[in-house]
Amino acid sequence: MAIVCERFDDLGRDSGAEVRLGIMGGTFDPVHIGHLACAEQARVAYGLDAVVFIPAGTPVFKRGKKVSAASVRLEMCRLATASNPYFDVSSIEIDRGGDTYTVDTLRQLREHYPDNVQFYFITGADAMLSIVKWRESAAIADLAHLIAVTRPGYVMTDEAKSELADHANFDVSYLETTALSVSSSMLREWVAAGKSIRYLTSLAVHDYIAAQGLYASA
Ligand code: ATP
Ligand code: MG
Repeated sequence: MAIVCERFDDLGRDSGAEVRLGIMGGTFDPVHIGHLACAEQARVAYGLDAVVFIPAGTPVFKRGKKVSAASVRLEMCRLATASNPYFDVSSIEIDRGGDTYTVDTLRQLREHYPDNVQFYFITGADAMLSIVKWRESAAIADLAHLIAVTRPGYVMTDEAKSELADHANFDVSYLETTALSVSSSMLREWVAAGKSIRYLTSLAVHDYIAAQGLYASA
């Protein structure tokens, strides 16, 4: 069977006990403390056994925008997650090529892992609102529980919550995380403007961005 991630590829195989795998999808251009803190807080809040970061190959919503090479985004995720024994990185979306659809990723993971592994798809409240418009959202609802984390500037109204509930049979949990007002776009702009992004991502990622000269122009 093909390998889907490095540390947790055999998750759930040693016993039939329920195991929870968090899935953190994104462009991660670059990964930052908002992503890391929300994955970690979701892990503890929902008793997740592992959280795997899966950088998108060609993000559908970012078509036409300049996105760093997949290998670079993957490497930054590796660097950022290495020190957390519960975190892992997967290149399945990058390896698959073509446009990235979450439903394809979840299906691929479902084929890989035994049935006792439950999926928890972690996403920011902003992305959650667009999930109902994603390809095959009903299939997504069947494959994974959703954890919507709060993100500064994106307040999830009751109206939005009920719209989500109407669209498909989503099992959504809402998690209030510490509001970290950081985004990848902000980090890219700051680097281009010569500002320091130290402490806004992991030190290893900070050093990698500097060494590679990434985001030097916006
Ligand atoms: P960009 O600014 O380029 O859109 P981003 O910071 O939104 O980048 P993405 O890779 O698009 O990063 O996000 C991946 C996931 O992480 C999304 O579900 C997004 O909602 C969530 N996320 C991003 N930043 C934060 C944050 N500061 N707090 C909580 N969730 C976040
Ligand atoms: Mg975004």
